[in-house]
Amino acid sequence: MLVSATEMLQKAKAGQYAVGQFNINNLEWTKAVLLTAQENNSPVILGVSEGAGKYMGGYETVVGMVNGLLKGLNITVPVALHLDHGSYDHCYKCIEAGFSSVMFDGSHYPIAENVEKTKELVAASHAKGISIEAEVGSIGGEEDGVIGAGECADPQECKEIADLGIDFLAAGIGNIHGKYPENWKGLSFETLDAIQKLTGDMPLVLHGGTGIPADMIKKAIALGVAKINVNTECQLSFAAATRKYIEEGKDLQGKGFDPRKLLGPGFEAIKATVKEKMELFGSVNKA
Ligand SMILES: [Zn+2]
Repeated sequence: MLVSATEMLQKAKAGQYAVGQFNINNLEWTKAVLLTAQENNSPVILGVSEGAGKYMGGYETVVGMVNGLLKGLNITVPVALHLDHGSYDHCYKCIEAGFSSVMFDGSHYPIAENVEKTKELVAASHAKGISIEAEVGSIGGEEDGVIGAGECADPQECKEIADLGIDFLAAGIGNIHGKYPENWKGLSFETLDAIQKLTGDMPLVLHGGTGIPADMIKKAIALGVAKINVNTECQLSFAAATRKYIEEGKDLQGKGFDPRKLLGPGFEAIKATVKEKMELFGSVNKA
């Protein structure tokens, strides 16, 4: 059964580790993440962007697939199904469809409007036992069509949003989506420290987990980050393994064209990436 992400993230913050949010794209992706979580006795959050939700045939399809896999694969570790960077309308769609967690990305609204909409969505999600993440300061990167240095959120605005009753908070601390540029300055631990001091026990979320060096990840966890989003890294390892299979001509040997064989190496590659992240984040055996 799906659970909200609140309890797993409060435990993570108290225990000084982080739970990974791994974005899913299809059946193989979802199975790979769920099986790796179970094998490593780790809590996990499945992230679904609006685009991926549409790709998979809509939110009801996603909920049906995930619930089916939890049962069919005997997954007993805590699993949350979370809308990633949701708009106001899509948060409602996912609350209705059976997601157990949503992120409202109101970072592009003026702060007053972000506050109003966040408050309303907090009430709607909590009425159904669903957890909600909010964002302050936009997190740059390829998703926004710009690759630039990530912004740093204003700690006072973070406190204002945190006080609205949300369950966890994403704040820009120089992190960006996608691959980091050569000249990236690194995470701003000064900003993170200031945010944590003002927001207390609130679990903090680090977006753009692909390519952040391990020592920075560890330091961010020590300063209150309890959820780390990983998306691009699984895509890169899946693509590399699939490329290798085809370049080696394995799809041309015997029944190598069977999708269950063709997608096998990519599936294993996602599992390896997820396991590596769970070990780095410290969530192994924390289910
Ligand atoms: Zn993000």
